[in-house]
Amino acid sequence: MKEMKYDVVVVGAGIAGPIVARNVAKSGYSVLLIDKKPAIGTPKQCAEGISIKVFEKYDIPYDKRFINREIYGAKLYSPSGYELELRYKEASGVILERKVFDKMLAYYAAKAGADVLARTEALDVIRKDGRIAGIKAKHEDETVEIHADVIVAADGVESTIARKAGINTYAPPHEFDSSYEYEMLIEGYDPDLIHLWFGNEVAPRGYVWVFPKDEDRANVGIGINSDNPQTAKYYLDKWLKENNIPAKKILEVNVGVVPVGGFVKELVKDNILVVGDAARQVNPMHGGGMAEAMEAGTIASKWIVKALEEEDLALLRNYTTEWWETDGERLQKVLKVRKVTEKLSDEDLDLFIQILSGADAEKIAGGDYGEVIKALLKHPKVILSPRRIKLLRELL
Ligand SMILES: Cc1cc2nc3c(=O)[nH]c(=O)nc-3n(C[C@H](O)[C@H](O)[C@H](O)COP(=O)(O)OP(=O)(O)OC[C@H]3O[C@@H](n4cnc5c(N)ncnc54)[C@H](O)[C@@H]3O)c2cc1C
Repeated sequence: MKEMKYDVVVVGAGIAGPIVARNVAKSGYSVLLIDKKPAIGTPKQCAEGISIKVFEKYDIPYDKRFINREIYGAKLYSPSGYELELRYKEASGVILERKVFDKMLAYYAAKAGADVLARTEALDVIRKDGRIAGIKAKHEDETVEIHADVIVAADGVESTIARKAGINTYAPPHEFDSSYEYEMLIEGYDPDLIHLWFGNEVAPRGYVWVFPKDEDRANVGIGINSDNPQTAKYYLDKWLKENNIPAKKILEVNVGVVPVGGFVKELVKDNILVVGDAARQVNPMHGGGMAEAMEAGTIASKWIVKALEEEDLALLRNYTTEWWETDGERLQKVLKVRKVTEKLSDEDLDLFIQILSGADAEKIAGGDYGEVIKALLKHPKVILSPRRIKLLRELL
């Protein structure tokens, strides 16, 4: 059996893993980044939308090779067809080509000094003298033992490594969304905006999305609560049919599960850290997790470097503390909002989308929803409904 030794081994080359590997390698430590996929990034399980701010914030080149399209805002559709448009003069987001993006993130990690091995699946942890000393993996057809001082579980929503290491990553089915998506030819939608449709008959708890990748090509998908008796595919096909959209030019089918709540409490156990979807660090409102994975990866890598520099692995625990005091606190608030919006009827959704103006939507998008809720509470149709007042007050 082949043996290897690194300061840090990172399992999973999605978003979180390469950010950690790159940052730690930049500080001069030896890092191995592994992924079970033969081609990192493929297949994608993503609608590929992300804020334009992340490139500067996480020091990622704004490279046309993985940017399909710049996006200038969003359009929201209520169950009865009321529309709310938010359009900026400058690009606010992009639709990525994740197959290229993930691979390039791994490339940046490799350029920073990390070793990268595709088609290498972590199978188990190695225990030595009561402590976890590395990862047992399969590279191509060969079993390898990767010994490392620090192990990072960045292995996505189906993460096994953190659990094998004894970190409690359990969440009930209600805390996950099921998603189904076609990359397909579609016409008639402004390709400069992302489009979101809401409604309890349209997408229970979630929404249908059209994220344009081209003038006439988009990721068309849906997310619904995963404990729903019907499948996400059922609702997506129903929506396409009801909107007379022919589903005959389908370039890809992507199926996935999104964690939308119940963030992992203990993100570190001894020398193991869990980041990204594996720690359920996803925005519970819209199910986007790439920026959250980058943020968690950034915090995690900072403490890994500090722990290695000071030869004190106990410092790793600061990752849990810092995440919960920053992004964790923000996402807990978003989770609260999601739990309230789950109770909205179609009439509520119609009314709120009717009342909200583009400026309100902008405030919500920026996380400043308190002022918007206060404005909604003053609206006559809200004042007349004690139930709506109660729901909105829960958000304050
Ligand atoms: C349908 C859908 C649409 C989405 N749309 C968006 C969106 O538009 N915007 C957004 O921000 N987010 C979106 N998300 C969420 C986003 O994709 C995730 O939050 C993000 O990819 C999390 O990154 P990660 O690095 O934690 O995990 P992942 O990207 O899932 O990466 C985990 C990696 O670990 C590897 N791996 C797993 N197990 C092992 C193992 N045992 N050994 C080795 N490698 C392993 C996998 O192959 C994978 O490459 C969407 C998700 C879905 C399902």
